[in-house]
Amino acid sequence: MNFNESPHIITWELTRACQLHCRHCRARAIPRRDFRELNLSQVQAVLDDIAQMHPRPMVIFTGGDPLERDDLPAIIKAAVSRNIRTAIAPSVTPLLTPEVVRAWKDLGVSAVSLSLDGATQAVHDRFRGVLGTFARSIEIAHAITDNGLALQINTSVSPFTIQDMPKMGRLVQMLKARSWELFFVIPTGRARAAESLDAESIENALNWLKDYAKTVSFRVTSVGAPQFARVLGRPLDSAPTIREAQGFAFISHYGDVYPSGYLPISAGSLKQQPFSEIYRNSELFCTLRDSTNFEGRCGVCDYHEICGGSRARAYAVTGNYLAQDPGCPALDEDEDVMQPV
Ligand code: SF4
Repeated sequence: MNFNESPHIITWELTRACQLHCRHCRARAIPRRDFRELNLSQVQAVLDDIAQMHPRPMVIFTGGDPLERDDLPAIIKAAVSRNIRTAIAPSVTPLLTPEVVRAWKDLGVSAVSLSLDGATQAVHDRFRGVLGTFARSIEIAHAITDNGLALQINTSVSPFTIQDMPKMGRLVQMLKARSWELFFVIPTGRARAAESLDAESIENALNWLKDYAKTVSFRVTSVGAPQFARVLGRPLDSAPTIREAQGFAFISHYGDVYPSGYLPISAGSLKQQPFSEIYRNSELFCTLRDSTNFEGRCGVCDYHEICGGSRARAYAVTGNYLAQDPGCPALDEDEDVMQPV
């Protein structure tokens, strides 16, 4: 992939409306739809532009809750008919039923991701703020795989959920998920610093994940912790990790383009410029793709090209998106091991 030309994944927040009350919500979801949302014809025009990018990105429609939009089936059709690989990341509310999942399959959706933050109702429902969400998520997970759709389980890793990870792994296996993505909570949106792990805990979790990933058949990935590349010992000449603005972009419900949903700095508006132009040429995206711009340890570290640190965490903690990632421990050069800051 040439990440200067085209992202691998675009996450598109179709709406900020959602009926859940998740304690760490990136979107600061609201109960009703925002009048600034892109309408169907604006969405179709953006999809026309995305479809001519090469390689063609995958689009994940998310929210808020994308099911809050009654034109979601038309939006899915518009993406699929342009040969764009399409996934949905819904909220688990009464709007999400096995019948809806079946309809997505018929429309040509490739994958659905569900959030499960703990292996029990007690952990998950506390985190999501609505009782019964855990049981409904399990029911929907079965509907996804029963319909032949790829299931991805997303898990927020925070001080409230970290103890549950081994049990969560077993649940992911039981649900026959194709992949398990661990989101290391970044203190942005509704998430506060107390919901985010410190550098030492992130390092320990990634080391556990490295060993755990060898024992399972599904794919294990991390978001908000690109230093997983270092922990895995990936060769320094391997392909760069997908991170903010590099292989990844986020479209907000009102059509602004961001390097990530967790890095709230807009690179431009789709109401004024095509997506491809913003992704390829905006100053913000170009700066973030050039790892020689990174400061502190992330500027001198051997892994600055293939990792580069979480720019979103750097911004959330220091206010400078080029600063060293505060979630990565310092390298002790004498011992050649990573030490907690
Ligand atoms: S210091 Fe920065 S670039 Fe190096 S491994 Fe840590 S986060 Fe990645």
